[in-house]
Amino acid sequence: MSAASRRAGRQPESTRLVAVSKTVEPSRIREACLAGQMLFGENRVQEARSKQEAVGPSAVWHLVGHLQRNKSKEAARLFQMIHSVDSLGLLHDLERHAAGRQEPLEALIQVNLAAEPGKHGVGREELPEILAAAAGMRHIKVQGLMILPPYDPEPERSRPQFRELAELAAEMDRRKFENVSMRELSMGMSEDFEVAIEEGSTLIRIGRALFGERPPVANKERA
Ligand SMILES: *Cc1c(COP(=O)(O)O)cnc(C)c1O
Repeated sequence: MSAASRRAGRQPESTRLVAVSKTVEPSRIREACLAGQMLFGENRVQEARSKQEAVGPSAVWHLVGHLQRNKSKEAARLFQMIHSVDSLGLLHDLERHAAGRQEPLEALIQVNLAAEPGKHGVGREELPEILAAAAGMRHIKVQGLMILPPYDPEPERSRPQFRELAELAAEMDRRKFENVSMRELSMGMSEDFEVAIEEGSTLIRIGRALFGERPPVANKERA
């Protein structure tokens, strides 16, 4: 992470590591906490709930995977940030369910730049409408954008999408949507985080490079 930051002339502290702990048992998550890693990403609400109890209150949790609207109430309670807001309806649901929180719920809008059918995320043309809707929301803070490019073992092939997402965030920032910040760019995973940092990522989501390979079914989201 430091080397990639230096190459890009960025401060190493400007990128945070989200340790993606899906399928990883609580004892190993606690080990990571003891080593100083406190920020974890999960992709299933139910799995996150039982793990949060087992790991204890020192850890901070982000939801990185797709969120179904019928799970939004619980998600608004369990997570500090949702990386995967992909519809106006979901954003409204989260605003409603986040009302009881002490701190606002942080949200990123997941963008699908390639407009890949069957993949989650809003197209670039739908993005302004969603950002405009955040204006009146009191319990949600939109903090930026997230992307999950199609799986590719060659990191350089993800670079154009990372660059395009950063440019899109800059464009949205210039439009000054009320109650919307574009400070966070959630992009980069085990294979391509260095390229993502070079292109401006502030949140890299790393699972396998930290915890090792997962059982095959957990990779479904990227299939
Ligand atoms: C699993 C997952 C990751 C981490 O993937 P790795 O390849 O293990 O680094 C990142 N983001 C999302 C949305 C995921 O589901």
